[in-house]
Amino acid sequence: MDIKESLANTGTAMSQMPSGIPIVKYYRPDGREEIKTPQYHTRKDGVVYDIFLGQGYSLTPPENPKPSCVGCNGWHNTEGEVKACIKERKRFMAKMNQKAREDLAKERKGKDTEISELKAQVEKLTKLMEATLGKAV
Ligand SMILES: [Zn+2]
Repeated sequence: MDIKESLANTGTAMSQMPSGIPIVKYYRPDGREEIKTPQYHTRKDGVVYDIFLGQGYSLTPPENPKPSCVGCNGWHNTEGEVKACIKERKRFMAKMNQKAREDLAKERKGKDTEISELKAQVEKLTKLMEATLGKAV
């Protein structure tokens, strides 16, 4: 699609919220609808284009929608890419969970050490006080 044409198209598709914020109904490449406030960007050569159209969104439902992905809440070119994305996501989540568990264990160990150090100091002080008071009495 021609970029200038895409800007004109967005303009005609635009409506407004009661607050006056312009909104446009876009279609994701996987066919899902999204209501968005259009955002424009000016290229170095002065051409203004709609960022969402540049990202693959369209103003009419796509003829051959791409597969949606629950892994990244986006879309991919093939089902194989969707499977790979979900697999990678699961691997990443497992890694993050493992790290969280390790951090918690480390933190717990640190606190245990702190507590035993404090206990040792209290014992030392108690002995010192007993010795001092014992002599004074
Ligand atoms: Zn994905």
